[in-house]
Amino acid sequence: MEEKYKKLQRFLETYKTQQCNIKGCPSSRRCPYYHKYEDYRRNPFEWGYTYHPCPKTYSGGQWKGQCDKKCPFAHSYYEVWFHPHTFRRYPCQLEKGQMGCPWKTHVVNLDNTTFENTCTHFHNENEKLKDDIFQMEHPRK
Ligand SMILES: [Zn+2]
Ligand SMILES: [Zn+2]
Ligand SMILES: [Zn+2]
Repeated sequence: MEEKYKKLQRFLETYKTQQCNIKGCPSSRRCPYYHKYEDYRRNPFEWGYTYHPCPKTYSGGQWKGQCDKKCPFAHSYYEVWFHPHTFRRYPCQLEKGQMGCPWKTHVVNLDNTTFENTCTHFHNENEKLKDDIFQMEHPRK
């Protein structure tokens, strides 16, 4: 795998998987750590869940409650859109707005690596990822 894809995989393995301990953190999407169940992600390569929202915790466009860590479905917006099979597969809608996409210039430092562009969608054909770029098992044994 090319270096840029390895780096993206590291990002998908770590973003929002570790608990935030930054004092006074605004607990937003800008922070690379999680603050509550709603922005928590399991490492998809470790846990092997799919990007399909869990029928136990998602209904009518709303996430509620918690579920088993071994469940094969996604438990948050973050688990759906930072999933190896959905990440950078669809065009960014924010980019079409007047302000453009705020996430494509967003930079985070995570595990001693700097990641530029944390948008889950692509802005040009170069950023678009091929379906089979990341290898993962469903579910992980
Ligand atoms: Zn934080
Ligand atoms: Zn579940
Ligand atoms: Zn974007």
